[in-house]
Order: sequence, then structure tokens, then C-alpha cells
Amino acid sequence: MAFDAQRRQLIKERNQIQHIMTETRHFGVETGMMNMTGELSSYDQHPADQATELFEREKDLGLSQHEMNRLFQVERALSHFADGTYGTCERCQQPIEAARLEAEPAALNCIACQRAIDEPLRDVLARRPVEEEVLEVPFARTNMDDADATFFDGEDTWQALASMNNVVDRSASEDQHLHRENNGYVDALDQVSNQQYKAQLPD
Ligand SMILES: [Zn+2]
Repeated sequence: MAFDAQRRQLIKERNQIQHIMTETRHFGVETGMMNMTGELSSYDQHPADQATELFEREKDLGLSQHEMNRLFQVERALSHFADGTYGTCERCQQPIEAARLEAEPAALNCIACQRAIDEPLRDVLARRPVEEEVLEVPFARTNMDDADATFFDGEDTWQALASMNNVVDRSASEDQHLHRENNGYVDALDQVSNQQYKAQLPD
């Protein structure tokens, strides 16, 4: 049978995804929020605590969505064995390249059509490195001087760190020397009492 290897591979992948999703109970999505947080009620929970849990759950949902999308595509490709159109591009009805089906048995479109489908998305993604999508502060790009941002951003961080690099002038004048000496005092009053103490000491 034509595409028998692809069919077996698709069935195998479908079973794997279904197994993973059952094992992890859809990545915890089906396990209620209270169950996950170990709280009997969310009534007395601080919103910030809840936000962390919510974030975790949204991540779970994201993972689950990814698996769901993949499962959907695999099922769809398998359905084309039933209707006799497996290996035919859904978009242009031309045969999908054999090498493509070998590399990706769940392919629903030929290479040219897939490019056309992905093009608008790629255009959006090309504007910034794709990694930035998964980065969060403090690792995400926060240099917003071109925008109208007033918070401590990435460039401010750099400037603060760069200022640490200023080498202290060892040939400092007496004034600067005194200034440095006085750095240990909490306020001026402490300095006065200390000077008085020193003044009354026997030579
Ligand atoms: Zn096509």
C-alpha cells in the first residue's frame, strides 16, 4: 500500500501524543486550580500568589495546546487515508513532494503552499529574534529608551554596571582623602563627637 510507512508512523505518533496527554492529565489542565495550589479555597489568597499559579497554568495550557494542535494535524493526515487524498496538497491539490512526506508524514501541503501559508507569520516573527517570545524580565529585552519608558530598563542597568568600572584615582588630593575617610560616618553629628573625642585625648 502506498504511503504505508507514513501511515504507520502517523498512527504511532497519534498514540504517543494520546498517551502523553493521558499520562500528564492534559498537563494538569484537568486538575483544578485548587487541587494544584493545595488550597481549599481561593477566597483568602493574595492575588499575587494566585497570579503565579495562573501563570503556571497558562504555561500548562500552552503546552497542551501545542500537543492538541499536533494531534489535530496527525489525525487530519490520517483521515486522508480514509478519503483517499493522502499525499495530495490540501491547498493546490497537487502531489506533496515525496521527500517532504518522508520527513514529515503529517504534512498537509506541498512545500510551495506551506511557504505561502507560513509567509505572513514569518514576516511578523522576522522583526525580532524568536527567542524573545519566551524570554521574560530580567532576561528579556527591556531597552526602551526609544519608547517613552520611565522605568529602570536594560540600558539603565548597563549604565549602572558600567559606573562600577570607574577606577579610583589613587593620587587623590587631601580633600578627597578626607571625604573618603568620612564615608563611614552616619551623619555630621557623629563626626563632631568623634573629633571632640580625639581632641581631648592625651598626646
Ligand atoms: Zn500545494
